[in-house]
Amino acid sequence: MVREYQIRVMPEVAAQEDRLKRWLADEYGLDLMSISQVRILRRSIDARQRQIYVNLKVRTYVGEEPENDEFVWTEYPDVEGRPQVIVVGAGPGGLFAALRLIELGYRPIVLERGKNVHERKKDLASITSTQQVDSESNYCFGEGGAGAYSDGKLYTRSKKRGSTEKILNVFCQHGASTAILADAHPHIGTDRLPKVIEAMRNNIIRCGGEVHFQTKMTQLILDGDRVVGCLADREYLGPVILATGHSARDVYRYLSEARIEIEAKGIAVGVRLEHPSLLIDQIQYHSRQGRGRWLPAAEYSMVTQVEGRGVYSFCMCPGGFVIPAATGPEQIVVNGMSPASRGTQWSNSGMVVEVRPEDIDGDDELKVMRYQAELERTCWQQGNMRQTAPAQRMSDFVGGRLSYDLPRSSYAPGLISSPLHFWLPSEISHRLQEGFKVFGRQAHGFLTNEAVLIAVETRTSSPVRIVRDRETLQHVRIQGLFPCGEGAGYAGGIVSAGVDGERCAEMAAAYLQKY
Ligand SMILES: Cc1cc2nc3c(=O)[nH]c(=O)nc-3n(C[C@H](O)[C@H](O)[C@H](O)COP(=O)(O)OP(=O)(O)OC[C@H]3O[C@@H](n4cnc5c(N)ncnc54)[C@H](O)[C@@H]3O)c2cc1C
Repeated sequence: MVREYQIRVMPEVAAQEDRLKRWLADEYGLDLMSISQVRILRRSIDARQRQIYVNLKVRTYVGEEPENDEFVWTEYPDVEGRPQVIVVGAGPGGLFAALRLIELGYRPIVLERGKNVHERKKDLASITSTQQVDSESNYCFGEGGAGAYSDGKLYTRSKKRGSTEKILNVFCQHGASTAILADAHPHIGTDRLPKVIEAMRNNIIRCGGEVHFQTKMTQLILDGDRVVGCLADREYLGPVILATGHSARDVYRYLSEARIEIEAKGIAVGVRLEHPSLLIDQIQYHSRQGRGRWLPAAEYSMVTQVEGRGVYSFCMCPGGFVIPAATGPEQIVVNGMSPASRGTQWSNSGMVVEVRPEDIDGDDELKVMRYQAELERTCWQQGNMRQTAPAQRMSDFVGGRLSYDLPRSSYAPGLISSPLHFWLPSEISHRLQEGFKVFGRQAHGFLTNEAVLIAVETRTSSPVRIVRDRETLQHVRIQGLFPCGEGAGYAGGIVSAGVDGERCAEMAAAYLQKY
């Protein structure tokens, strides 16, 4: 007998299979010994009241064994000798585009400027030891893109549930835990992502596709208004899916110089805010004990409006780290990630203010990118021209005071006390100060000098949109060019970049059928 139940249980019951079985047996009069498995189909935490509950949708197997159908399997055929599509960038957009091309019977040739996901790790470690950033191998460039050493949160605001579920199922097929299909806020963890990404690459190669590392696209090959390939270490021929992410400033400059239409796009900038994770757990779970044994590190989401612009938390990483995410010299950029266990002593999030193109002087398409770059350079100057990040305690920032000292932080290259309230652009610092006062009123204890602001968070999304046709997803003028993912301005996050990658692959396949 297979039955599904929607239940609400204590965290300790939800977390232990034997307790859950007993609870179900008692509640629904089932024979405990005959329950062969309880499969969790949906899981969310209800922390609105003092007593925390976990909402579960479960499927029980009584007197029969479950089928091996925990996720939907996708067949990937051999595409050796089939027409090829060039995929530039091996982030989530490019990888999901490549896999979808294979599914449709086309051969992806993936070009990635950075190194494979394992070699890349050494360059990330050396940012702390040498205080230098390798311009081709860093937290944004390399196999897996910005998604590889990210937090691996897999939720999206996208309403296209089918497409989102497909992405999660493909992750499971390549080794991610099936828990991501159940959790309301699924998360893989930075320690587990590289293996999943490597399995995706191996699958692409096994099916007859190609993946070239340390191979940077420098130019598109055009035949009139049609892209017929691109130039890297040599010519690669075929339509091009351009999935180069939000940090490939050289790609935006090239497109601008080649007069391939792009436009300025709004971003959000601010700081990383890091609290002790215990404090966030205490606030969110309404308990001095914090999360206790059975609950995960607590999340939060804050949003308000200050003087006509959104001020909000972004990419919250409970139990995580703040990391140096610059992509070149003379920049400081911070971001956050967390391991699967979410077990560090800190919880961080981006705290950012919306910046619209009209907020910045000038009318050229690269002006938002320049604003972003200037802020990152100012931050590097304030940080002693190293990767040591300027930082300020939270209440000091709101009160306009320099911090005498700084709390311990997860940011490995080190912090330096700095008056962020003074040198951040006033339209950002003022709105952050006001926003923090609002958040402090909403969550008692949140606005505190135990928390530290680390500058500067600027890579929240692409500062440029590569304008494309809504139907064909081709560039608005150039045929055979499919701007894809976050860098094109059509995705914001791992899952939405994956969904966009799949859509671009479908459109590239349709294009090849026509020509
Ligand atoms: C530290 C960090 C944490 C994050 N955490 C999360 C999270 O938890 N959840 C979430 O949803 N999102 C997260 N994000 C954002 C997420 O990673 C991005 O939204 C997503 O990776 C975008 O996918 P993409 O494929 O469009 O671009 P990217 O992932 O940026 O990939 C672009 C790829 O193109 C390559 N490339 C660039 N130029 C060239 C060229 N000229 N030739 C060849 N290759 C090129 C780059 O090296 C890169 O590998 C995080 C980002 C960072 C940096």
